[in-house]
Amino acid sequence: MKIIDLHCDVLNKLSRNDEIDFLNDLRLDSNLERLQAGNVKVQVFAIFVHPNIPIEKRFESALQQVDAFKKFVITKPGVVHITDWNQIQHLQEGEIGAVLSLEGCDCIGTDINKLKALVEAGVKLVGLTWNYENDVAYGTLEDPNKGLKPFSKEVIHYLNEQDIILDVAHLNDLGFYELLPMAKHVMASHCNSRTICNNPRNLTDEQVKQIVEKGGRIHVVFYPPFINNLETATIDQLIDHINHLVKLVGIEHVGFGSDFDGIDFKIESLSNASEYQQLIKALLNHFTEEEINIMSYQGFEKYVLSI
Ligand SMILES: [Zn+2]
Repeated sequence: MKIIDLHCDVLNKLSRNDEIDFLNDLRLDSNLERLQAGNVKVQVFAIFVHPNIPIEKRFESALQQVDAFKKFVITKPGVVHITDWNQIQHLQEGEIGAVLSLEGCDCIGTDINKLKALVEAGVKLVGLTWNYENDVAYGTLEDPNKGLKPFSKEVIHYLNEQDIILDVAHLNDLGFYELLPMAKHVMASHCNSRTICNNPRNLTDEQVKQIVEKGGRIHVVFYPPFINNLETATIDQLIDHINHLVKLVGIEHVGFGSDFDGIDFKIESLSNASEYQQLIKALLNHFTEEEINIMSYQGFEKYVLSI
């Protein structure tokens, strides 16, 4: 069954080590051959600038990741750079759609032109923060009661104008509630349910409902600490989150965002993109094939084609 995955950190690895080959290097959970083996049809590649990079070097690091995407990802045979969501419906047999996203606005400082440059390079989803404070907002490891910063208005206005999806993964609670009424398109690219696993990176039922009231989606993440607060988890425990979300808002608003290549701990039998169909097999114990197809592919496709 075809998959759309909303989050991986391949670019961070590629930009730091040019000996890694996106085609089949086993240091990549989501290398091209593994994506093909798992039937991942569309993969979102995040630009993630680690907080240990000095502030003045962060934008350069973001650009290096865009470069890595252009040089090593979309040059591979069959990989299509998705710059317009309509391209998804024209992907041919054997082709994979590659989408850029920005995980946190830390690299732009207070310079809207830096954000514009990244959007012009093809970024289609933007998160305001990673885990910490930046010039736009506060992340999930900061005080949940701190709201968006003044510069966020300009950022959100620009992203709305460009029809970019605002990604609430990693945003703190008050920032979330302030962003929602302002955002045109909103989604959580890699988050689980806080009711099932109490972690600030997961979403409360109220947050899930509010995202869906805006037509948005929640894509579950495969990181064990966000599944059960442990370093290991089973596929069935991930499905507990999926079942909860589906009961809450319906299957058409739930999808996947593995976080492969950004995580050190993995789900058993779902440790890289080639094993994606193990999840599909296990989901067949809970849902029909048609329902799983909506979750794994069609729900997201329908959403972005309406943007
Ligand atoms: Zn993340």
